[in-house]
Amino acid sequence: MKDLIRKNILKLQAYSSARDEYKAQAEVYLDANENPFDNGINRYPDPYQMDLKQKISEIKNIPLDNIFLGNGSDEVLDLIIRIFCEPGVDNIIICPPTYGMYKVLADVNNIEIKETVLKDDFSLNSEEIIDVANEKTKLLMLCSPNNPSGNSIPNSELKSLLSVLNCMVLMDEAYVDFSDKESALSLLNRYPNLIVSQTLSKAWGMAGIRVGMAFASAEIIQVMNKVKPPYNINVLSQEMAIENLEAITLYERNLKTILSQKEWLINELRKFANVEKIYPSDANFLLVKFVDSSFVFRELQTRGIILRDRSQQVLCEQCLRITIGTEEENNKLITQLKEIIL
Ligand SMILES: *Cc1c(COP(=O)(O)O)cnc(C)c1O
Repeated sequence: MKDLIRKNILKLQAYSSARDEYKAQAEVYLDANENPFDNGINRYPDPYQMDLKQKISEIKNIPLDNIFLGNGSDEVLDLIIRIFCEPGVDNIIICPPTYGMYKVLADVNNIEIKETVLKDDFSLNSEEIIDVANEKTKLLMLCSPNNPSGNSIPNSELKSLLSVLNCMVLMDEAYVDFSDKESALSLLNRYPNLIVSQTLSKAWGMAGIRVGMAFASAEIIQVMNKVKPPYNINVLSQEMAIENLEAITLYERNLKTILSQKEWLINELRKFANVEKIYPSDANFLLVKFVDSSFVFRELQTRGIILRDRSQQVLCEQCLRITIGTEEENNKLITQLKEIIL
């Protein structure tokens, strides 16, 4: 695993913040050039977010040393690319159609992208992934449940890839809380080349405070801590995250509502003649193939309902992605669809 990390990163001397150099409680802090007048946000945040991590550790049943928190998953993914991939030299494998940020982050970092398109049913083409991987492949980016298709990668398939490949495998589980399939977290102990990322943005309803999580071996977490900006999660986000993670009853109720609304929406959408296919989804969205998706998209937009047009993506011709809303929002969608496509 150490061999996969860029040499400059291994050698890197991390920035040592005031809070790194003095960790215990003190009476007077005159070490960080902060403003001394208390307004609730005058002090720098905890650089390692220990209170928030403690909460996440309890919920996920993962030890503190195996948890990293980022300013959204986007920061987590960017860090992982920068830690393992040498710009202009190494490559990563992605499996379209999938989350667009993988390509953008690789492009920003000048990392070559190898694309292995999913099979027609959106399952992984593992044979091709193994074929395509070479000695410069440092990272395979997988997404389960996959955005935009909604299906999951079975752990059995992930395990085969983890044992065969000589690169890191990042499993992006942004939507895993909506799924009844087993999370890849259960494989962490056995596979040092596995990194699982999750987020508070979706099922936990905290997209606005930007908190993403990575779960990996303690060695990898240490390297991520070394590379990250010192105060990457602000005070307000840490406080809000803890508060909302404690509201488990509300979380579970909302999750249940979203899942039952998904079933309702599937049922209603099935009745439309111009809905060709509703793909099975383990997430909080549906990928729906229409007879004329651009017509549906435009008509809904003029009526104030915005869907995500995925029709330009490979394997997604005529497809729109529909996020499950509240009961009221979903009703509006169906009502408007009835007016558009009788
Ligand atoms: C929404 C989403 C995320 C979440 O990103 P954040 O930066 O944590 O908000 C990550 N991965 C995928 C595939 C997503 O769809």
